[in-house]
Amino acid sequence: MGNLYVISGSSGVGKGTVIKEFLRKHPEFKLSVSCTTRAPRDGEVDGVNYFFLSKDEFQKRINNGDFLEWAEFSGNMYGTGKDYVEKTLNAGHNLILEIDTKGALNVKSIMPEAKLIFILPPSMEELESRLRGRKTETEEAIQKRLASTKLEIENSKRFDYKVINDNINQAIADLEKFML
Ligand code: 5GP
Repeated sequence: MGNLYVISGSSGVGKGTVIKEFLRKHPEFKLSVSCTTRAPRDGEVDGVNYFFLSKDEFQKRINNGDFLEWAEFSGNMYGTGKDYVEKTLNAGHNLILEIDTKGALNVKSIMPEAKLIFILPPSMEELESRLRGRKTETEEAIQKRLASTKLEIENSKRFDYKVINDNINQAIADLEKFML
């Protein structure tokens, strides 16, 4: 069996970049592609960043029991496919899920061996400026994401490991200490 790592972090903390760099250095780790009902951002590709689904299709998959976990985040639905996770771990591969903290705690209750990692920003000011700098969200969406940060940080108290993403190389080195 491979090991399961769940990585969460507030919107704009740069977890996508950290995970991408970690995977580049450690291609033996796999990353699960989630399903979502949110619209693709510029440059996002269906089947690569997410499987982009309609609300109806997402609901069908919930009813079918296709998801290991799913959660509503900031007005959209996100879910992790059960099949892919089971097959990947059974094939002996280490697997990373990049999901929100609610989803992470749900995974831990189903699979207690899962290791939960939370990525923190150097400061709240820095987080807000990164979120705005991304220029992909409306002001309303940015406010929603900032509001969810408090709950995410509260949930992260139950996580196994924390990494501050101030400097990317340091963040990767910290992850390597825990994951290798
Ligand atoms: P974004 O819209 O910025 O891509 O993602 C918003 C939040 O949803 C992030 O915290 C991301 O980690 C989380 N997320 C992505 N996929 C999943 C999933 O399959 N399940 C859950 N619970 N959260 C997810």
